[in-house]
Amino acid sequence: MESDSIDCMASSDVMDDDEIHHHQLSSSLSKTHSNNGNSNNSTLSSAVHASTTSVHELLECPVCTNSMYPPIHQCHNGHTLCSTCKTRVHNRCPTCRQELGDIRCLALEKVAESLELPCKYMSLGCPEIFPYYSKLKHEALCNFRPYSCPYAGSECAVVGDIPFLVTHLRDDHKVDMHSGCTFNHRYVKSNPQEVENAIWMLTVFHCFGQYFCLHFEAFQLGVAPVYMAFLRFMGDEIEARNYSYSLEVGGNGRKLTWEGTPRSIRDSHRKVRDSHDGLIIQRNMALFFSGGDRKELKLRVTGRIWKEQQNPEGGACIPNLCS
Ligand SMILES: [Zn+2]
Ligand SMILES: [Zn+2]
Ligand SMILES: [Zn+2]
Ligand SMILES: [Zn+2]
Repeated sequence: MESDSIDCMASSDVMDDDEIHHHQLSSSLSKTHSNNGNSNNSTLSSAVHASTTSVHELLECPVCTNSMYPPIHQCHNGHTLCSTCKTRVHNRCPTCRQELGDIRCLALEKVAESLELPCKYMSLGCPEIFPYYSKLKHEALCNFRPYSCPYAGSECAVVGDIPFLVTHLRDDHKVDMHSGCTFNHRYVKSNPQEVENAIWMLTVFHCFGQYFCLHFEAFQLGVAPVYMAFLRFMGDEIEARNYSYSLEVGGNGRKLTWEGTPRSIRDSHRKVRDSHDGLIIQRNMALFFSGGDRKELKLRVTGRIWKEQQNPEGGACIPNLCS
């Protein structure tokens, strides 16, 4: 089996000419109301459409254009603004420049309460409709919400669906892409004693029609410098549970193995790392496994991903036959 040598790269080094592509999501309400084509209803439905749209516009903060939630404020002249913007405008109405005061706009808050709106990820497939005030809560957890870029160690703000993010990882972050459910990687670092925190290049595996991210990094766990390897699943947590993976490091006739369930990329790489949900190798042990004079880290990590057999009749993949 071939092994890949992955040289340590500080995340800042690989990020310099990154173009940030934002996935444009439709959040416009007007798109979410479709005319049902019934000519008898068309006048009524377009009237409803128009009034809902303008109420929605009323609920849009004129300063930041976000939807407003209680407390909604207004100036003496009736110009509204959201509570976040209110703290930023130094008591001046951004619309008429008059003193803002401290007036709640209860009428608008009540109007908002009476609205029912589709989830903003409707265009991505979410069929749910919510009262205005519970919409936000749902959207934070909506299964159709886009994923954040799983690339570690950068403040990459790219979001999108999985195929979009796979392309983004390949083209913008230049990550290593591999097909197959077994791997054999060698992580290399000269002068490992000097490194407190390092993140190696992410590797993406494509198997079972899914994508998995293999992370490897060095950090300080308490007083001990450690290396950690773990796998994340590019998809939701429920789906992640259908898969398992193993990681193994060793040398000199000793080995450490880890077996676990990949974490969804909904959990940030930092969160997974901080929960220690992966293979953790003390630096001394890693250097012992590296052989030589302990001056260089040369850690071979082998691993395998398999699908858990949920339904024996379902034709699930038999682990030993996958490669
Ligand atoms: Zn605002
Ligand atoms: Zn005003
Ligand atoms: Zn939704
Ligand atoms: Zn990214």
